[in-house]
Amino acid sequence: MALKALDIYKLLPKKNCKECGDPTCLTFAMKLAGGKADLDLCPYLSDEAKSVLGATTRPPIRLVKIGVGTRNFKVGEETVLYRHEKTFYHPPGIVFRVTDTMQADEIVAVTRRVRDETLTRVGADLRFNGIAIENVSGSAETFARAVETVEKVEAHLPPVLISKDTAALKAALVYCGTYRPLLHAATQENVKEMCALAKQHGCPLVVRSGSLDGLVNLVKTCTADGVPDLVLDLAPGTFGDFIRRSTAVRQLAITRAVPDLGYPVYLNAAETGQQDAAVALGIVKYGSVIVTDPLPVGSAKAALTLRQNIYTDPQKPIQMNPGIYRVGSPDKDSPVLMTVNFSLTFFTLQGYLESARVPCFMLIVDTEGLSVLTAVAAGKLSEMLVRDSIKKFGLENEVSHRKLIIPGYASPLSGRIEDATGWKVLVGPRDAAEIGEYLHEEWKK
Ligand code: SF4
Repeated sequence: MALKALDIYKLLPKKNCKECGDPTCLTFAMKLAGGKADLDLCPYLSDEAKSVLGATTRPPIRLVKIGVGTRNFKVGEETVLYRHEKTFYHPPGIVFRVTDTMQADEIVAVTRRVRDETLTRVGADLRFNGIAIENVSGSAETFARAVETVEKVEAHLPPVLISKDTAALKAALVYCGTYRPLLHAATQENVKEMCALAKQHGCPLVVRSGSLDGLVNLVKTCTADGVPDLVLDLAPGTFGDFIRRSTAVRQLAITRAVPDLGYPVYLNAAETGQQDAAVALGIVKYGSVIVTDPLPVGSAKAALTLRQNIYTDPQKPIQMNPGIYRVGSPDKDSPVLMTVNFSLTFFTLQGYLESARVPCFMLIVDTEGLSVLTAVAAGKLSEMLVRDSIKKFGLENEVSHRKLIIPGYASPLSGRIEDATGWKVLVGPRDAAEIGEYLHEEWKK
């Protein structure tokens, strides 16, 4: 049974030394109770405390780090089955696959693409995460050469090394063994050799089995051999297999019914023949490491957008910092458009303003991330907020006129804003797509 924070606190050393990264033992206890911290972070626990707290406080799904440096990614440490219950924490790493039978220039091109490609959406830079190199040739030497080709690009991307042959992995690890690559995969046949390799290089290891019992046995063997960072490949034959098995693994892990299944899940979309769909399935159904052949541009954007949507906190709207933002090079006569700090509203409006090519100011007020309509209905967007924001951000110094364009959905506030601010209020369109036409026709009047 899960312990409460206060019960956990009683077992902690109460030194408040901060070495665990928390300011006090009590805050560390609260994190442990929520499954959001690892017991090992406190170096002063007694053996008794370790044995009592052990299994009940560690996150139900282990956090596994893949790669080193700025492009490393972490997966796992999830605590819920459904996103709306709380949130999902660590987005899946989407990894582009190359094979050792590809030409070196093709391998280099894919590696550079993962290194350089960025999609900027609602203020966040979205990127793919790493390179998987698969030993298709069957030759250890060819495989090692392909890994060397990737490493020579110096993209510093987390590698995933895929081979059944431990000799091939061993040869490849010469080139990337210190970069914490993910090794794929330990099976019933090779688990001992794979564990030895993972242990020698401190790498995370994928274990692969089509049955949950098989996965549990492999996990037990690996952890007993001193390999704690594991990822589960459910070896699905179909999409249905993946949904059934990954859902079962998530349920059994977060309820702690089968702690040995408490690890992130791996999916090789390249094995399915329907990659776009498989990547999307992996994102929504608990995949944590998703290997795919390089996606076409449209599918790549869709995958990154889907992942961003699923892995935002549903209880916290994505917000912009309130303030004054410039579009183009506005001057003292340029229009001022007021709107809310819900980032989707901000970026949508900003995009249309840029296309309209009318230099202007955006006055962004703090509605705690609510959209215009919701903020008006909830009373979060008010004449006082607009008045205070004008003063706080020094809008009067930016323009010589006193005219403020408000969103169409805020029209019920127009009179009150005029009274509170002394500015003439112009009601803009409801749909941001019409703002260019509005500015060209109305602002010049
Ligand atoms: Fe308390 Fe241990 Fe954290 Fe120090 S490291 S503050 S003793 S929980």
